[in-house]
Amino acid sequence: APGEESPAATVLLGRYELGDLLGRGASAKVYRARDLLTGRSVAVKSFPNPRAAGGGGAEEGRRPVAIEREAAILRHLRHRHVVRLHEILATRKKVHFILDLAAGGELFSLVDASGRMTEDLARHYFRQLISAVRYCHARGVFHRDIKPENLLLDEAGELKVADFGLGAVADGNLRHTLCGTPAYVAPEILSRKGYDPAKVDIWSCGVVLFVLAAGYLPFNDASLVNMYRKIYAGKFRCPSWFSPALRDLLRRVLDPNPDARIDADGIAGHPWFCHGAGDEELAR
Ligand code: ADP
Ligand code: MG
Repeated sequence: APGEESPAATVLLGRYELGDLLGRGASAKVYRARDLLTGRSVAVKSFPNPRAAGGGGAEEGRRPVAIEREAAILRHLRHRHVVRLHEILATRKKVHFILDLAAGGELFSLVDASGRMTEDLARHYFRQLISAVRYCHARGVFHRDIKPENLLLDEAGELKVADFGLGAVADGNLRHTLCGTPAYVAPEILSRKGYDPAKVDIWSCGVVLFVLAAGYLPFNDASLVNMYRKIYAGKFRCPSWFSPALRDLLRRVLDPNPDARIDADGIAGHPWFCHGAGDEELAR
């Protein structure tokens, strides 16, 4: 039921009829909506309008520049495995992104009772993730917050990378912004010496792959400080059921030295990644 979160019969621009709340992040709420013009379902990501007089102050939502950056990045991307932006609407109080609906929910809804998936299924989705990451990196766009909550599925079960809220555009400089989510953050971010955002994305893809196939995090501890120590040391143990090829790939992806770490093209050529794939699937 829409309830308080979504006032019944809210229709944006006379066109998008808001429905249930699908999810929420740090700064936005995401609703299912119906496009009354086409009859299709869409997703609406709503931010408090930072330009609203009196409301939407800095603590409440994101700064205008951050919303504009996310919009600019999304407008730039058109890929089978990246959530597409249709348009942006601003009302007095809110800014709404009209997005492709990822009706299949989060990727992690597909894990089994033990919290993991088979290596073959993990490879299937990891290929889709890397295809999106290669595309973004080739266009000079970095996500910087790759983690399970931002990997969604559409109706047909295809992976869609969502939430470029921490995205960055290439300018040849190293980055210093501390960002990401603790368990998925690369060691060079922790050392605060500046980092290459492409390498940071690759690291978090490695953490995602480990989690999918293992059912638990590669670097974890009840204490955040201890977790960061483990990430910094880059030491992790693969569960007994991982194949030798998967272990080898993970060692290369979760390499604490960013200069030695494999890149997206390298991953795409790795034997574990290529295993059993027809040319058609790899060409995606
Ligand atoms: P934030 O930038 O605040 O983290 P997100 O873009 O990550 O917001 O969206 C928050 C949550 O809403 C996601 O984790 C996901 O569960 C859901 N969501 C986001 N975009 C979509 C979409 N296009 N279709 C379906 N659900 C979505
Ligand atoms: Mg998010």
